[in-house]
Order: sequence, then C-alpha cells, then structure tokens
Amino acid sequence: MKTLQVLLKQQEEFFNSKELQSVSFRKKSLEKLKTIILENQEELLAALHKDLRKPTFEAYTSEIALVLTELNYFIKNINKLNKPKRVKGSLLNFPSKDYIYSDAYGRVLIIAPWNYPLLLVVSPLIAAIAAGNCVVCKPSEETPHTSTIIAALIARTFKPAHVSVVEGGLEVNQFLLKQKWDFIFFTGSTKVGKIVLKAAAEQLCPVTLELGGKSPVIVHQDAELQLAAKRIIWGKLFNAGQTCIAPDYIYVHETIKDEFCSYLIEEIKRALGEKPEESIDYARIVNKRHFNRIKALIDYKEVIYGGKTNTEDLYIEPTITLSSWESEIMKEEIFGPLLPILTFNDLAQTICTINRYDKPLSAYYFGANKTDQELFLTSLYFGGGCVNDTLLHNTCENLPFGGVGNSGIGSYHGAKSFECFSHQKGIVKRGTWLDIPIRYRPYSSKLTLVKKLFKYLT
Ligand code: NAD
Repeated sequence: MKTLQVLLKQQEEFFNSKELQSVSFRKKSLEKLKTIILENQEELLAALHKDLRKPTFEAYTSEIALVLTELNYFIKNINKLNKPKRVKGSLLNFPSKDYIYSDAYGRVLIIAPWNYPLLLVVSPLIAAIAAGNCVVCKPSEETPHTSTIIAALIARTFKPAHVSVVEGGLEVNQFLLKQKWDFIFFTGSTKVGKIVLKAAAEQLCPVTLELGGKSPVIVHQDAELQLAAKRIIWGKLFNAGQTCIAPDYIYVHETIKDEFCSYLIEEIKRALGEKPEESIDYARIVNKRHFNRIKALIDYKEVIYGGKTNTEDLYIEPTITLSSWESEIMKEEIFGPLLPILTFNDLAQTICTINRYDKPLSAYYFGANKTDQELFLTSLYFGGGCVNDTLLHNTCENLPFGGVGNSGIGSYHGAKSFECFSHQKGIVKRGTWLDIPIRYRPYSSKLTLVKKLFKYLT
C-alpha cells in the first residue's frame, strides 16, 4: 500500500503542475488512448472471451465500439467543451457578462464492475481525462484477464502521475476508499454503492454512483408481439443477462400471455438453437459464486422453458418462469438469463405496483397507443429506458445515462460525462463603466424603490 500512497502523492503534484490545464495535452492523451484501443482490439476481445466467454460480436459492439464512439466524440468536441460558456446575465447585475467555467476536480477514482469490464473503466476515464483530471482506475478483480490487459495498456501509454490502474480485491478497494479524492465515480451494486457513499461522505467528496436494480418490461395488448419478443430476448440474453439495464422481468397483459410466451420461446430457439450451450453466440456466467446465486433463484415449479445448468461450464440455459412478487426470483436483481413473467390487466395499477419497489435503472414499454406510452413515461420512476425496444438508450451519446434512488446518483455519457467530471463554476464579469448606487449603504429610503425594481425586472 506504500507504493499506492507514493502514487497518490505523485498525482497530487502532477495536478498542481498545471500541465493538465492544456487542452491540447488532454486531446493528445485521448488520441493515445484511441490508438492503443485500436491496436490491441484482438487482445482485448480475447481477454473478454476468457473472462466471460463473450461472443466477439457482443464484445465488439458493447465494449470496443462504444469506447471508440465516446473517444471520437471527445476528441472532436474537447475544445468546445472546455471553453467557458457564455450564458444570459441577470438584468439586476447590469452591466455584466456571465459565464460557466469548467474546472477539473483534481484526483479522481474510478471503480468498475466485471460485466462490461473494458467499457466501464474506459468510458468514464475518457471524460475524466477530457476534463483535465488525474485518474486512478480500479477494474474488477472478477474479470482478471481484462483487468490485466487494461493495466498493461494504460501503464504503456500514460505517466502514472496522470492515469494509473490499480488492481486488487477488497483490501485494495478499502484502502483506496480511505484516501482523499476530489471525485469518485463508482459503477457496481447498490450494496457496495452505499459503502462508497459512506466513505465519500467522510471526505465530503462528490460522487457519481451507477448502480443496478430490477428493470421491468411492460408488454401491452397492442404491442407487436413477435417483434417485442425478439427485442426483449436480444436484450435479456446479451452477455447472458449480466447487463445492468437488462430486462429483469416482464409484466404482460393477461389476455396475451400464452401467445407472447410462445413467441419468447420461439425466439430463444431461433437465436440460439435447441441447444444454447453449443451456440458460440451465448456468454457464460462470470464465476461460480454468481452461477450458484442465479441457479438458486430458479423455482422449477415455475419454469415453462429452460432450466438446464452446467456447473463446470458456468452455463445457465435461458429460462422463462411464471412468477409472482412472492417468488424468490423477484426478491433481487437477477443479473443472469432468467426471465420471470407476471401478468396484469390494468396499466395504471401495474405502474403503481412497480413504483412501490426501489426505482429501477431502466424500464421498457411495448405497445402502440401513445396515451399508454405517455402514462408509462410520466408515471413510472426509473433511470432511463425505451419504448418498443430494450437497452438502446445506453448507446446514444446525447442521452444522459444513470439511475435514480437505489439505482444511482448522477449520470454520464457524451457532454453529460464532461459535466460529471468537472466542477461547473458560475462567474459574473461586471462592467465598470456604470455603477448603479442603489445597493450601497445607507439603505434607509431605498427599499420601496428596490421592491418596485424587482417586480419590474423579474
Ligand atoms: P460490485 O458492487 O460487487 O463491485 C463493483 C466494484 O466494487 C468492483 O471493482 C469491486 O472490486 C468493488 N468492491 C466490491 N466490494 C467492495 C467493498 N466492500 N468496498 C469497496 N469496493 C468494493 O458489483 P459487480 O458484481 O462487479 O457488478 C454488478 C452490479 O453492478 C450489478 O448490480 C449491476 O446492475 C451493476 N452495474 C451497474 C451499471 C450501471 O451503469 N449503472 C453497469 C454495470 C453494472
């Protein structure tokens, strides 16, 4: 841990050296990051396969391509993002010009989970660099191959005083959280998010917490059922269900339940064949602990499709169950390829029911009627989501991505990431050619005039 303390001291000195204030230095850093990702794509894909047996298509689209998209966005927009933004001033301050300046926080800690072990380290790292911070990244110890290659690539590209990767488990995490940071960006479970928030509170350190939750899907009578089944199964089985925004469970209208379930089953067979364990397009569970946890959620009395498992191979078959809120599977975030089905007959009531539980990270609605869509969008509380699809809100750089309540604090992606990793400093630049004397003491007879002025100007 002594070397870590030395590293943190070096980062403090580097931040104070002001080298990071140069936007061209930050841009060059991002270009170097892009080059190493491009040059080492094959090694990164191989590491992701070793850790999670991620199908190359999924690993490329959801990790490498998203990282490259974010890098391109920041390389293109870094000058604009870093410029002070002129905003409309208040007439009460006339004459003035008002601005928002973006300040780097200083030393930033990024803690990442294992399910998208490249994306969730590098995507926040890009914005942290663009905003001018020194960064320590802590990848998850559960995906060691990806963690090792990220550490090696970063060490080859950046001075440790600027960007460094620290690997390790609980002891390292606990040590890191005891240090003084200027900002902490954490992605992971709600349980550990609370530990991070407590540690941050000791230092009064600002945080972004990207957490999880049970993300519902509602399928109404007027949905295009076959297409809905296709899009839900795609989203659910991406990375074998180990996606923070994966559809966790489905509420389907009771009149279409049987037809819809048959489409779900049909779609699993179409996508992965009769024996999904033989498909190269299906990932594995990250480790035995999670395998056992997910397996224990299966109540075989509720299963209508799937249910096979293979401990040696960490394989869990896509599994559909007919469940209720009393079922074990509804007690926690599933984070695996199990899909419970519940039924409803009244949309407004169902939304009230879901609102009684913790606010989910995502929610999805399938149905054609615009009034019902708006009811879903305005009455259900959740981080973000889609109408008539799943997962895709994660891919648009113009949309803020983050949870609410138990699923997180703060958001990022695109310009929002830049704001997330910098302090937005409000500045009034006053003119000196005019100085209206009304605010100066003695106040005695000025209050009536001030009241009139406020009424007129505001
Ligand atoms: P986790 O909370 O167990 O671990 C996340 C990180 O925290 C890891 O780097 C781990 O080493 C560290 N950590 C673990 N225990 C710690 C402790 N006691 N003190 C300090 N640090 C500790 O989460 P996970 O299992 O890696 O990931 C799965 C969870 O992450 C799911 O709940 C999922 O929904 C969520 N997630 C959220 C997002 C998002 O963008 N909102 C993305 C991916 C995953």
